[in-house]
Amino acid sequence: MPVRPVIAWFRESLRLSDHPAVHAAASAGAPVVCVFVLDDRSPNVRPLGGASRWWLAQSLRSLQASLRAVGGELVLRRGAPADVLRALASETNAAAVFWNDVAQAPQRTVAAEVEEALAALGIESRSFPDDLLVDPATLRAKDGRGPRVFTPFWKRVLAMGDPPASLPAPRSLPPVAGVASLAVEDLQLEPTRPDWAGGLRARWQPGEAAAQQRLATFLGQTAKTYAADRDRPDLDATSHLAPHLRFGEISPRQVWHAARFAASEHPAHAVGIDKFLSELGWREFSRQLLYDRPDLATCNLQASFDDFPWRGDAPALAAWQRGETGYPIVDAGMRQLWHSGTMHNRVRMVVASFLVKHLLIDWRAGEQWFWDTLVDADPANNPAGWQWVAGCGADAAPYFRVFNPVLQGEKFDPGGSYVRRWVPELAKLPAPLIHQPWGAAPLELASAGIALGRTFPAPIVDHKRARERALAAHATLRRS
Ligand code: FAD
Repeated sequence: MPVRPVIAWFRESLRLSDHPAVHAAASAGAPVVCVFVLDDRSPNVRPLGGASRWWLAQSLRSLQASLRAVGGELVLRRGAPADVLRALASETNAAAVFWNDVAQAPQRTVAAEVEEALAALGIESRSFPDDLLVDPATLRAKDGRGPRVFTPFWKRVLAMGDPPASLPAPRSLPPVAGVASLAVEDLQLEPTRPDWAGGLRARWQPGEAAAQQRLATFLGQTAKTYAADRDRPDLDATSHLAPHLRFGEISPRQVWHAARFAASEHPAHAVGIDKFLSELGWREFSRQLLYDRPDLATCNLQASFDDFPWRGDAPALAAWQRGETGYPIVDAGMRQLWHSGTMHNRVRMVVASFLVKHLLIDWRAGEQWFWDTLVDADPANNPAGWQWVAGCGADAAPYFRVFNPVLQGEKFDPGGSYVRRWVPELAKLPAPLIHQPWGAAPLELASAGIALGRTFPAPIVDHKRARERALAAHATLRRS
């Protein structure tokens, strides 16, 4: 009698190595049906933003190629996973469905529905921990709550020692013939009219192989200066792993083990690597928060902010989105984001602070814009980053710390090359003026070809007055 196949359901881990569910399926000695289900049906699962949809399409193509290289196939389907997997299991006479857990509320509900649907057909379900370094259950305080302060959280994680070793990719994955699949194009993930993804194509190479390459380049070269230079948007000083981690093209365990090994091989890189791992710790922290607070993208973690007097100001929001605020470092960041689907971390903090403090616009409007435009838009890191900057998050920056965009530019982009790259109309201004073109003499502006208010906007708010307004708005919370 032929052995019944096993289904490996790909969710947010679009890779073959260190993939617990694929590893278990490949070890079962049965044919394996690999399937990805585009779930745009389940309630509460947040639809992906435009840039993430583009990334997903490329990542699926890369996964298809990796699977074909080991004799497998990727079946693409669309719908509610419980319906799709029930139908696929019946169609292929599968004995079991294996998947990696996604430790977030809506995805846990989706997995529970799948399990129930399969159980009704007598089909086995097996799930495996995957996207976190530490099981959230082990980090509960006595009151049942998860971690709220980063430093003790990270110390605790470090004290737990290494996460489980990474698993190898399967050498072969015998498929089941004749299983119908959609094509990637049928999922309609990529923009067509207009096709705005040219900047993303030029900047990124999605997929598992590219993720491994980035990690190797970072650990072998960039890590040496990471601790000193990671705040400099004018330098190429960080790993650029965020979208690869977001789509599970590389696992946090793989990053951890490779980083530890590199630190032992290159002691000169150890300081940078420790700092890098603590940034991976912030990812873990944000995900642990999301595990506890599924409403992270919609509700202030600190309820005192519920009465914050946000301003509705559509023209100011549009100027911020388009990179036309008149503050060069803010506009450079917003244009980098629109063009390439990413933004340097320091600049993310500056533009976010500008939106919520200088413009007094609700952080949720900024979070939504990032969600739509970042290739690494992450259900945990994005809202946690916004709440951190807005002052209403866990272990957040205090609200009264209002970044001065001029000083931030001067400090972290001292030669102005980041601004020159993304705001070319200011390119001819010398470094001392590039972060505040309104401070240049008329002759200096003219010789740089700039007409303020025409070729580059005048600042939409005055920094000093905006800061005072922000502090006054915050003071209303303390009074209430
Ligand atoms: P590296 O500096 O090389 O760091 C390595 C990895 O650590 C990153 O890839 C990322 O997975 C993680 N990491 C680094 N910094 C943070 C952080 N502050 N919080 C959580 N994880 C971190 N990161 C996202 O991955 N997705 C988002 O949607 C996102 N939105 C953000 C929104 C705001 C307002 C802010 C202030 C930060 C946000 N971040 C987000 C965090 C950070 O900006 C990016 O992770 C980082 O810029 C990615 O570049 P990198 O991969 O070169 O990072």
